[in-house]
Amino acid sequence: MVLHAPSKKTQKHFAKLYDTALRSLSHTSKHSCGASHHGQLNFLSVNQPWRNCWYGKHISCLHSEVATLRRLIRLQMRRGKGVSDFRRKMKKVTLYIARLNMDTQTRKVRVFSHSAPCQQCLKFMKRCGIKKIVFSTNNAYNQVCSVKVSDFENAHVTWANRLQGVSVKS
Ligand SMILES: [Zn+2]
Repeated sequence: MVLHAPSKKTQKHFAKLYDTALRSLSHTSKHSCGASHHGQLNFLSVNQPWRNCWYGKHISCLHSEVATLRRLIRLQMRRGKGVSDFRRKMKKVTLYIARLNMDTQTRKVRVFSHSAPCQQCLKFMKRCGIKKIVFSTNNAYNQVCSVKVSDFENAHVTWANRLQGVSVKS
């Protein structure tokens, strides 16, 4: 895990993620994620605070990282390409992740917050073949966190999943 000052391009990505995260319907934490390839940030998604289903498996709410990866999977399926081809492509993709919380002082504006992915999202990223992620700290325009997915462990399980007894070993 490396904390560093963001490049101009990374700042631009986080500005885009900020605007995107505001669309999230979650009242507490608004998350957004995008996939970067050749310097372009696409497949921007937000977290969805309602229960949903993915291939018959119920999950409590949709995290933005999973939402972005699902869109990439769907595109791959539409193109009729397989899993190994997908994982090969994903090696070159960097996921950018942001989280916005309400500013505790003014209670009026949203500010960046630490956005390390949870255990389940990490597991899904590894399965998909994602190698690198960059996520927001409390001030993403000054400092971001770059992580090699294979080196990163996060014991965090969201409270909704804890209630359902979900514990994922990566
Ligand atoms: Zn997650």
